[in-house]
Formats: sequence, structure tokens, C-alpha cells
Amino acid sequence: MDSVSSSNSSQIENLVIIGSGPAGYTAAIYAARANLQPLLITGFNSGGIPGGQLMTTTFVENFPGFPDGVMGPELMDLIKAQAIRWGTKLVEADAQSIDLSVRPFKIESDEGVIQAHSLIIATGARANRLHLPEENRFWSKGISACAICDGATPQFRDEELAVVGGGDSACEEAVYLTKFGSHVHLLVRSKKLRASAALADRVLANTQITVHWNTEVIGVEGDEWLEKLELRTGENDQVYTLELRGLFYAIGHKPNTDFLGEQLALDSGGYIVTSPGRPESSVEGVFAAGDVADPEWRQGITAAGAGCKASLAAERWLSLRSLAKLIKRTELEPEQIEKNNFTEISTESNYKQDALWQKGSFALRKLYHESRKPLLVVYTSSACGPCHVLKPQLKRVLEELKGQAQGVEIDIEVDQEIAKQADINGTPTIQLFKEKVLKSQWKGVKQRSTFKEAIVNLLVD
Ligand SMILES: Cc1cc2nc3c(=O)[nH]c(=O)nc-3n(C[C@H](O)[C@H](O)[C@H](O)COP(=O)(O)OP(=O)(O)OC[C@H]3O[C@@H](n4cnc5c(N)ncnc54)[C@H](O)[C@@H]3O)c2cc1C
Repeated sequence: MDSVSSSNSSQIENLVIIGSGPAGYTAAIYAARANLQPLLITGFNSGGIPGGQLMTTTFVENFPGFPDGVMGPELMDLIKAQAIRWGTKLVEADAQSIDLSVRPFKIESDEGVIQAHSLIIATGARANRLHLPEENRFWSKGISACAICDGATPQFRDEELAVVGGGDSACEEAVYLTKFGSHVHLLVRSKKLRASAALADRVLANTQITVHWNTEVIGVEGDEWLEKLELRTGENDQVYTLELRGLFYAIGHKPNTDFLGEQLALDSGGYIVTSPGRPESSVEGVFAAGDVADPEWRQGITAAGAGCKASLAAERWLSLRSLAKLIKRTELEPEQIEKNNFTEISTESNYKQDALWQKGSFALRKLYHESRKPLLVVYTSSACGPCHVLKPQLKRVLEELKGQAQGVEIDIEVDQEIAKQADINGTPTIQLFKEKVLKSQWKGVKQRSTFKEAIVNLLVD
């Protein structure tokens, strides 16, 4: 499903879409079906993960077409698959800067310079941080910006946890964390929740959640792991401490527009300014879609709708100026896309010593003790969006290495003991072993080349 191809540097693309959330992929579906063969720069690190914000959530229950809800990462896999099926080209990189003073426009990416007649900016928004004095020390050691990704890790189980924020995300995360923690504290700076009434009511009625009104976090303390928060209540400036093991940030978002410099009109919050109700930005031929241009609605479906509008507007703009080079399809209907292949948990009966990719503790034990090949172990959890991004990447690395290395996936919710023994405190975590020796460890999504190089180095050792 991962049909990745990069742009030839001398080629001028009809349309480059920057961002792979619902806005970017929907724009790509429309442009690809209009035979524009768009190129989509997925993003990698600088503005959240490929697939966007819905990769960091569990059930999406308000996206039309899914009466029983759909997991955020699964929804994004499906939208991506649809964009690829109609011929979207993907570049898995960040756009570092763009030059809108020249035509065609130039986009500097980790994969080189890309030229385009028209552009859709769909780079979304990312989570804010508190920037506490010791925040970096406890980052991933008790502090997280993604309850959905990290909440299930063993270190948070049956412990007191806190969420900071008062909006939809904060409330959703507080409720979610009650599945794992012994109690959840919701730290709200004002006297009121900004969440939807239904969500706020759920929080206030939940006996496992204590809301601390008028409360600010002013410090974090601990040894190897977060142990205490220093809090200040606004009413009487009283400072007090709260002993807990996890602090989750849900304090809003900043639009991903830094890479634009001052080339497009932005509002005071950094959001792209467009014509009212339309996708046109302040520069002709540049369109904006989704959260990056929407400080108000910020939903999956509004982003997807905005992506559709931006794509149709770009198509019209290109055709009015006779700039579009349309591709010719030999087949009217592109081939159906293969659905995500599900890996069964390995047991004595289905375990294969030479399989490239297996799942579960049985396979891990067998390969760890018996295989002499480099072994990648990836620790995941069901709601971890970044894990969705990472697993196909790791599988591709193993395929490229043609069986010289193997991989095992451990779901930390299923194999809690193994996760504890391996000291795993967040997903995804990737460990690389050779002959029972841990050679490297990474947290989060990294470039495919990072894993490949590390394995190749072990092969030549
Ligand atoms: C926890 C949580 C739960 C949510 N639940 C729901 C829900 O249930 N229903 C709902 O409708 N909405 C929900 N939302 C809101 C929804 O996720 C967003 O409104 C939507 O994802 C916005 O889509 P987007 O395409 O504009 O941007 P995003 O989803 O933010 O995607 C932006 C994309 O741009 C990429 N990018 C950023 N910078 C660069 C760069 N320099 N170069 C290249 N690429 C770049 C990023 O990697 C990302 O792929 C939720 C949000 C959160 C955080």
C-alpha cells in the first residue's frame, strides 16, 4: 500500500500538497481523480506525525460513514489508501521551507527541492507544551503530550495521573486515562471547562476524576521518573504538591506555519488567512485547507471538506492558466487497494523461525534465544497512531534486507510483563538485538534509513 515515489528535481508538479492529515489526503483524492497526479509531502517530524492528529486518538465517532465509529489511525490508513489508489505520489519528508517569490514555486524538503505550479498547505496544528523548568528531564518519563499513545504503558497502571487543560482533548484524555490510572486529576486554569457540554458532563460525573479549578502547574519533581507536581491555585495563590506518576498535556495547538516565513498572510495566532469561506491564500496559486487555516472548527470532517474545496479550486486555477499536465489512465478503474494485513500472534503451531515479521511473546522468546540474525522488537499499543506509521516502515526495511534480519511486534497491553521487564515507558519503542545483546534503542518514529543503517552495521560486524 505504501507507494512512495519522490519527485524528479527538474520536473514541475501540477500540484504539491503539504501535509497528510484528513485535509491533505482528501485534497489528494480529488486532485488524483482529476488526473493531476498530485505529489503529497507527508511530513515526518516537524509538525506531528504522518497522518496528522487523528493518528493520536482512539475512536472517531463523528466521521460520516462509520456508524459504529472507527479508530483514528485506521481512518487515516483508509483515506491514505484511497489517495494512493488514484495515483497520488508520496514524499515521506518534512517541507523545510518554500519559496513563493518564484514561479513555479520551490519547496525545500528533506528529499530535495520540489517545484510546483500550485500548492495546497494542509499542515495542521500541533500540541502546545507548558515549558516547565524540568519538563525536558521528565519528557517520556512521566510527562506526555499523548495520553492515547502512552496511557497504556505499565508505569501508569494503577497510579495517580493528571491531565492539564480544560477543552475537548483534555476531557477526552482524562476519561480515557481512568481505564489505566487509579485516579485522574484534571488541572484547569480557569473556573470552567471549554469542552462540549456532553463531554464536560461525563467528566464531572466521573468519580475517578477530580477537577482542580483555577490551577496552574508550576513545577515537576522526581528522581528517574515523575513523582510530584507543584501546583498553584489562582484564587489565593496557594502552592501545593500532588503526588502522581503521569502528567498529560492537552493545552491546545499551534498551527504549523513556521516554515512559511512571512510569505503568506497569517493571523495573530499564526493561522493562514484565506478569502472568507474559500481556500485561496494571499498568494495566487497557493491554497490552504484544514486546521492550519481554521482556528475555530478544527475537526476531521471540516478538514476533509476544506481539502476538497482547496483541490477543486487548485484544479480550476491550473486549468484557467493552462498549466495542468494531465496524466492518461490506461485503466478507468484503478486496481483495488490491498487492505491492511493483520499479523496473527505467533504460537507453537504457527510460529516460523524464518518469518520476517511475527507478533507476541512466544515469537520474541524463540527468536531472542535461537536466531543469530539482528532482531528488531517494536513495542506497540492498540491506540498508538505513530505505531501505525512505523510498522509498515520497519516491515519495508526487513523486506529490503531480504531475510537477513527479523522483526517482532509486542503489544504492551497484551504482554505487560515483557514490557515491564524491558523497561518500556512509551510506544512505539524499538529495540535492536543481535545474539541477545541490545545494540540500539529508539523511541518514536524515525526515518527508515536509521533502522536500516543500524541493522546493516550489525550485518558487517
Ligand atoms: C486527541 C484528538 C482527538 C480528536 N478527535 C477528533 C474526533 O473524534 N473527530 C474529529 O472530527 N476530529 C477530531 N480531532 C481533530 C482532528 O484530528 C483535526 O481537526 C484534523 O486532524 C485536522 O486535519 P488537518 O489535515 O487539517 O491537520 P492534521 O491532522 O494536523 O495533519 C497535518 C499534517 O501536516 C503534516 N505537516 C506539518 N508540518 C509539515 C511540514 N513542514 N511539512 C510536511 N508536512 C507537515 C503533519 O505531519 C500532518 O500529517 C481530534 C484531535 C485530537 C488532537
